[in-house]
Amino acid sequence: MVSPTRRDRAVRALLARHPLTDHEPIAALLDLQGVRDAAAELRAAFDEVTAPEQPVLHTFAVKAGSLVPVLRLLDGFGIGCEVASPGELALARAAGLAPDRIVLDSPAKTPTELADALALGIALNVDNPQELARLDALTAGRPPAGPVGVRVNPQVGGGAIDAMSTATATSKFGVALGDPGARAWVLRAFADRPWLTRLHCHVGSQGMPLERMAAGVLATWELAEEINAAAGRRQVDTLDIGGGLPVNFSSDAHTPSFHDYARLLRRTVPGLFDGGYGLVTEFGRALLAKSGFILARVEYTKSAGGRPIAVTHAGAQVAVRTVFVPESWPLRVAAYRADGSPKTDGPPVRQDVAGPCCFAGDLVARDRPLPELEPGDLVALLDTGAYYFSNAFGYNALPRPGVYGYSADGDGPAVLTTLRRPQTMAELVAEYGGDC
Ligand SMILES: *Cc1c(COP(=O)(O)O)cnc(C)c1O
Repeated sequence: MVSPTRRDRAVRALLARHPLTDHEPIAALLDLQGVRDAAAELRAAFDEVTAPEQPVLHTFAVKAGSLVPVLRLLDGFGIGCEVASPGELALARAAGLAPDRIVLDSPAKTPTELADALALGIALNVDNPQELARLDALTAGRPPAGPVGVRVNPQVGGGAIDAMSTATATSKFGVALGDPGARAWVLRAFADRPWLTRLHCHVGSQGMPLERMAAGVLATWELAEEINAAAGRRQVDTLDIGGGLPVNFSSDAHTPSFHDYARLLRRTVPGLFDGGYGLVTEFGRALLAKSGFILARVEYTKSAGGRPIAVTHAGAQVAVRTVFVPESWPLRVAAYRADGSPKTDGPPVRQDVAGPCCFAGDLVARDRPLPELEPGDLVALLDTGAYYFSNAFGYNALPRPGVYGYSADGDGPAVLTTLRRPQTMAELVAEYGGDC
């Protein structure tokens, strides 16, 4: 469970140290204890189902929380990095991650990106036959220093959100296993290259039923067994099962849990846990989402067509998916008074919570019953620790908000650590070409 009390203490600590001023009317907060607990739960869930001595590398999908101190923190909790672009690799390197704790999965790797990965010796998963041909050219017959796998698309179907479904028949990711000739191509690729040692799948993210994710892992394990039988040895020694554990955005509960998924995997793919394979995981959202929230000032309140509207400083620039696809990405909103005390009294009033961007759809909640908001109150967008404040959208040249970690262990005030400074106007102007 997320602790609302810790959250309330974090709000008070933030207002004491970084008041939401006219210059910084929005900030993001991350519960460092919550992140540590999620990492520990992930490790415990797989410790419970894996064989003794079975190698397991948990990595964090950097796109879910691309902040260097967060990557460093997770590394300290035993979670490496899954990177999907040169920029994400640079962030992981800046966080000090050792090459053997990084996995590269970019879908559009350039020759330079491949060469850099080979030089560093990080693990990489090849997406398609053309990429494998490039790798052949770069390695010129010498086995790469780091492990190399092939990403497969088991085509087990999509989930509730199309944009998050990576294992549909026509998904852009990996080798579509059921397509004519594809399975034979994979078998040949491994037979010709003894240094291919991994298979990778990532079936989807938010909205994907756990059973479907497990079905994708089963199909990948079956292919590994087939490759190994053909090779007469354990050529495939590691399976990378991706991430995708969905997050509950409707309450403080952590459901489904890493334990639920690990136990389902053990029932569905027992051969994955007999100790014959190493395991890599790449969870993102489930490691961070519940531990973060965005706090923004209510600037004005008004009414239109009988609908009360609170105009706040949190909109599409920090909650892009919620604003553009609200039915798939609903967020809970909590109300606070200017002094940081929770505003829970008074009859709920149905109102819109709007952001600062200049387009009509910039709403983070529509017709939502909440205590009646007033100018100076604060709104908190809950469960936004993953994919929200770290993935800002540059609309209206709104600056990126500061991100602060908090620890609220004892009875004293919560302790804040800066994870990203708020962007200054000078930095913003430079980002938009001011220095050209
Ligand atoms: C996005 C992604 C992940 C993480 O997905 P979550 O839903 O955040 O757990 C893992 N692996 C790959 C290849 C991805 O693209």
